[in-house]
Amino acid sequence: MSATQKQADVVVLGAGPAGYVCAIRLAQLGKKVTVIDTAELGGVCLNRGCIPSKALIYAATLFEKMQHAETMGITVTGAKINMPKLIAWKETVVKQLTGGVGALLKANGCEVIQGYAKFTGPTDLEIETPKKEKIALKFSQCVVATGSRPTAIPGFEIDQELIMDSTGALEQESIPETLLCIGGGYIGLELGTFFAKIGTKVTVVEAGPQLLGIVDPALVKVVEKGLKKRGVEVLVNTKVKGCTKKKNAVEVSYGDQTKTFDKVLVTVGRKPNTDGIDLEKAGVKLDTKGFIHVDAFRRTNIPTIYAIGDVAGQPLLAHKGSKEGIIAAEVIGGKKSVWDVVAIPAVIFTDPEIATVGLSEQEAKEKGLAYDVGMFPFAANGRALSISESDGFVKIIADKNTKQLLGCHIVGPEASNLIAEATLALEMGASVEDLALTVHAHPTLPEALMEGAEATLGHAIHIFQKKSKPQGQAEATL
Ligand SMILES: Cc1cc2nc3c(=O)[nH]c(=O)nc-3n(C[C@H](O)[C@H](O)[C@H](O)COP(=O)(O)OP(=O)(O)OC[C@H]3O[C@@H](n4cnc5c(N)ncnc54)[C@H](O)[C@@H]3O)c2cc1C
Repeated sequence: MSATQKQADVVVLGAGPAGYVCAIRLAQLGKKVTVIDTAELGGVCLNRGCIPSKALIYAATLFEKMQHAETMGITVTGAKINMPKLIAWKETVVKQLTGGVGALLKANGCEVIQGYAKFTGPTDLEIETPKKEKIALKFSQCVVATGSRPTAIPGFEIDQELIMDSTGALEQESIPETLLCIGGGYIGLELGTFFAKIGTKVTVVEAGPQLLGIVDPALVKVVEKGLKKRGVEVLVNTKVKGCTKKKNAVEVSYGDQTKTFDKVLVTVGRKPNTDGIDLEKAGVKLDTKGFIHVDAFRRTNIPTIYAIGDVAGQPLLAHKGSKEGIIAAEVIGGKKSVWDVVAIPAVIFTDPEIATVGLSEQEAKEKGLAYDVGMFPFAANGRALSISESDGFVKIIADKNTKQLLGCHIVGPEASNLIAEATLALEMGASVEDLALTVHAHPTLPEALMEGAEATLGHAIHIFQKKSKPQGQAEATL
């Protein structure tokens, strides 16, 4: 069958949080936009990532809270999880959001084509629709936003039943009694915590020396305590060796033991969707890990092609991709836009949550900076105590001489929301004095941020601080 010939102004390839945001911004700037996606609008984030995982985590947290409400004089009896109903509710959240993306693209006049696209040249794509029809599309500019997918481990074949990746974990219609999470990164720990909260006995094996890679070990310790409290067994420096699928279980060898689990979840990283789209036919250069090489304008080495989101490299986070989408759209739209972001926040939805932005203490050390550290525990924050979530702390890193904020690291309640203030402060080049001088409403969790800033300056009110404070040392006793 010969291909239908089509012409487009700007093509956005992939409708995840990078692609659809880029498309809408392009349309706002008067561009005629064609969006191509082989699957549902919203990409991994809305359909199989951020949103469904957070919906499930929220429900599991609610369930857990009900079981521990007795200390507040609330007796809840008969609380149960109905998994098919929970999965169906999660799906309604997803559908509401993806439907909203579709409506926004339509309202902005973007054309959406469903199909799988491959490059045939630097200004040409070939699309195969679900009905196997071929479209040859010529474009002036193309923004590649094809995202990423889970990395597999040889010998652990994903069937989404016994051995699942994150996609399968979000679709389970029954509660496994036992679960082995291979990989102690953020996706594994978020999903592992979800299952632990709904009653699964979870084991986490991590090949590296600590959970969550390069996150400040002090923060990781608090999360590990939370995992232990929920009966999660954590094994670091432990590699899986192999597995045998049984009728309703999987036998897995790891470290020096072999155990049987109802389910296995593999979360050992993600790889970019840059293979299978014939980027070489367009001449686009990749780095050694398969990510597309881009400049500060999100241009590739080919003038007609841009790249954003997970395909354009670390960090593989939705908000990083959306920001890149806006920059690429504005560059194409003739605006003076460039990647000049000071810091990208990162959140881990464990219990308690972790949220970080800017330099860690380790990074400040490696850069040879003179810095101060201030720590403030949530146990000394009235709001944290009144919601019965006092585990964790705020850790602030500031330049010793100028007092400029360098980084903020939070483990504790609502860390995901609290990090926004520190991100804004970093973007604006604020000092810890700015944070400390700002009046924060009482009783609220953000007061912990203000007191963390005060602690960096040596005068937090609700913890005892000695008068002289050596550089780089936290004074607060946590
Ligand atoms: C379980 C899980 C939880 C996560 N939680 C968070 C979180 O809390 N916060 C956060 O920031 N990030 C989170 N992430 C990461 C986040 O989902 C990704 O960083 C984000 O989705 C990347 O966006 P993107 O637009 O680059 O690509 P994607 O969202 O991967 O979208 C790419 C789109 O391109 C389409 N596509 C690919 N190839 C083609 C082709 N050849 N032709 C046509 N279409 C194609 C795909 O169908 C897809 O829709 C999570 C990920 C997972 C798996």
